[in-house]
Amino acid sequence: MSDDKTIFKRIIDKEIPADIVHEDDLCLAFHDVAPAAPIHVLVIPKKEVTNVAALTDQDAALAGHLMLTVGQVARQLGLEEGGYRVVANCGSDGGQTVDHLHFHILGGRALAWPPG
Ligand code: 5GP
Repeated sequence: MSDDKTIFKRIIDKEIPADIVHEDDLCLAFHDVAPAAPIHVLVIPKKEVTNVAALTDQDAALAGHLMLTVGQVARQLGLEEGGYRVVANCGSDGGQTVDHLHFHILGGRALAWPPG
């Protein structure tokens, strides 16, 4: 086990638990440990990619799969009718705190805009 693994890599490797709602060959979705909305789930690739800015042309299929999975998981969670927000924080100004690409799915209440 290497010490420089991100917390999400540890979740992928099942070294620490998470409340997983979807898993397939390419990605994982699990509830956020500190929910910012009644439903707050993270969709992450199993591949170690830092953020959206680090995606390359070689990741086109993966990026598409992640977006389709976001929609599928939101549907599974019953968010489709009321709507929801998808957020990918990128870098320090974006407020990214975990350096492993992730899409937040936030729903279950009306969300304000713009963010702070
Ligand atoms: P970011 O700020 O990078 O966009 O989002 C990181 C998210 O990961 C935060 O919403 C934070 O609550 C969540 N998070 C951090 N550590 C853990 C953890 O160990 N387990 C889970 N399920 N979520 C985590």
